[in-house]
Amino acid sequence: LCQGDLVIFSVPLFESIARAVALFDEVRKLDSEVPVVFFGTYATLNASTLLARGASGVILGDWEDVLVEVAARVAKQQPLDAIGGLATPSSPAQTVFHRSHHLKPDRSDLPALSSYSYPETIKRLGDGVIVGNVESARGCRFACSYCSVFASIRQKVTVFQEEIVLQDIEQLVEKGAKHICFTDAEFLNAPSNALRVAATLHERFPFLTFDFTTRADLIVEDPSRIQRLVELGGKFVTTAFEFPNQTVLNAINKQFTVDTLECAIRVCRAAGIGINPTFLLFNPWVSFEDLNTFSEFLSRNDLEDQVEPVQLATRLWLYKGSPLLADPRVKASITKEHLFNFEWRHADPDVERLFEAIEKETNGSGVVKRCCLKC
Ligand code: SF4
Repeated sequence: LCQGDLVIFSVPLFESIARAVALFDEVRKLDSEVPVVFFGTYATLNASTLLARGASGVILGDWEDVLVEVAARVAKQQPLDAIGGLATPSSPAQTVFHRSHHLKPDRSDLPALSSYSYPETIKRLGDGVIVGNVESARGCRFACSYCSVFASIRQKVTVFQEEIVLQDIEQLVEKGAKHICFTDAEFLNAPSNALRVAATLHERFPFLTFDFTTRADLIVEDPSRIQRLVELGGKFVTTAFEFPNQTVLNAINKQFTVDTLECAIRVCRAAGIGINPTFLLFNPWVSFEDLNTFSEFLSRNDLEDQVEPVQLATRLWLYKGSPLLADPRVKASITKEHLFNFEWRHADPDVERLFEAIEKETNGSGVVKRCCLKC
């Protein structure tokens, strides 16, 4: 590791921060001088902790241009201070959103696409489907209060140049991709842009299928948009339902109702696109009775076969920097502080007992997803 001149850690998800820091500590034991820079959602959220631990810099916001500048400074053996968007121990920074020259990603050193696992896609499209991941925009214009995308860059959205996204898709097709997963936290941030990308994808590669993530209210907002995406190759949509209860939806600021969820299911079914709802079952606002009615929601909407067992053991991940920490009920539920997150317990011990029982049954790890695709 430390034969390099510069070490960079990408920290997009909560699973990656503990691993990145463990590796970082090893790097620092081997070499206390080598510049080490972190970037990504969970780096932004934990910038001060990382800097206090010895990081040379943490990128806040878009990272491509900042990384180029960091590499140029390192090559010239210049200090990393006063680079826009890079917080260092001696120079705090403002978040910077700037992607002036987004280039086609270089995938030449990455493992073969066939070596990645996509259980959801295989379940829906069959064994052997080769999937390529592409991002068409970064960020999300919504403000769900549990979401790390919102917490780290608020409602800033950076739309990537369409031609670059399509060039990336083209190189994935050359590597064997038959299906594209748009990994945007919210594919319909800019609906006309998303539809244009999908239309050009279909025009250039009519055999390609794709999936994407979007909110239930955006599905409902314009059913013809979903219909059009199906005509262009859309096969399934992942959407964060979280919990079919208005108290919970309000607590996390989803800005839609339980009716929206049921309507989204109907829109998807009418359009002929698969729906992959994700849930956040164990949270501080749910009651024991609510949990009992959850299976009714699944059966009423014919969703029992659509929901993976892991979805039934999902628990709110309370990370440092979460906007939810301003909620007195959430604060009161905290039982332990860790370096990057808090443990919490539900006020009703029966809810905790139920979680433990389900977790045991599903062989869960205790911490499951939290947001849309991003987490
Ligand atoms: S949960 Fe989804 S819709 Fe809400 S802010 Fe996060 S990415 Fe956006």
